[in-house]
Amino acid sequence: MSEKKREIPILYLVVPCYNEEEVVEKTASVMREKLIRLERENKIAKGSRIMFVNDGSKDDTLRLLHGIAAGDRMFSVVNLAGNYGHQSAILAGMMTAREHADAVITIDADLQQDIEALDLFLASYMEGCEVVYGVRNDRHSDGLFKKATATAYYKLMHLLGSRVITNHADYRLLSRKALNALAEYEETNLFLRGLIPTMGFTSDVVYFDVKAREAGHSKYTLNKMLTLAVDGITSMSIRPIRLISGLGFFVFLFSVVMCVIGLVDWVRGRNVPGYTTTLCVTLMLGGITLLSLGIIGEYVGKIYMETKHRPRYIIDTLVWRGDEGEEK
Ligand code: UDP
Ligand code: MG
Repeated sequence: MSEKKREIPILYLVVPCYNEEEVVEKTASVMREKLIRLERENKIAKGSRIMFVNDGSKDDTLRLLHGIAAGDRMFSVVNLAGNYGHQSAILAGMMTAREHADAVITIDADLQQDIEALDLFLASYMEGCEVVYGVRNDRHSDGLFKKATATAYYKLMHLLGSRVITNHADYRLLSRKALNALAEYEETNLFLRGLIPTMGFTSDVVYFDVKAREAGHSKYTLNKMLTLAVDGITSMSIRPIRLISGLGFFVFLFSVVMCVIGLVDWVRGRNVPGYTTTLCVTLMLGGITLLSLGIIGEYVGKIYMETKHRPRYIIDTLVWRGDEGEEK
């Protein structure tokens, strides 16, 4: 860690919201109180804010957010033009906040992640860390299915060479320096958990408790979760493609052996009935070929999307009031 102690930061909390009408007002008041306390304890500087990112909510979230921000300049609202997904929503918030903040912490809108951990994040920041990862203490609040799939997923990610931090979701602090570095990455297939560790920088890990959702239900449908999981692997590693080459090599060796055996049998005039063998080999090879094509197709699709250079999010409106009354 660096020797030089830092100045108390202007902190922005970036909070992505997708259909969070049940919880957003409670969240706003809890976060507001926490920031006031932190400011009083001299842990954050004046001008620290809570920045909500409305990720194309279809319910009343946006109206509620505007109401919250109208009465208090501690709140600002980045309203995205549509639903771009959690990762892009966080990115939109961070990129907007970095103009004003010394450090940004991304946190979910549902108050599942213990907000008292902010003190720990800030302590690591003050020690000179540019990146601080929040890691959950346990998975009590998750169902058996989520627990099992999450564990298997992290194992698989590590096996495939990704440097994700186990049990770290998107509760993390980035300093302005880290945010500026992140801005240099232009990839459309965004998987922040895998990307940020590859940037380097002095980092630290803090542990926090996870609670049950304050209200509402999870916005991560099984489909969204699977997409994130596949993106996580394909955006960080080409090892699956290499595995295909390996598999192809072994299948080739196997086929050479089978050919030799077949030829020897033929020369000896021993004709094996061989229906089952033929069936199995044909089906297996067909299956492997299709699977391999699918995996390669997954990457080709990614390349296609990347070459378009589409924006990762579009901001529709922005509500932000400066201390001097300047408006955006
Ligand atoms: N979220 C978002 N866009 C989406 C899905 C989710 O901005 O398309 C936000 C959501 O409002 C919440 C955070 O991402 O603040 C995490 O989602 P959720 O709590 O539903 O996920 P879980 O905790 O169940 O994994
Ligand atoms: Mg949640």
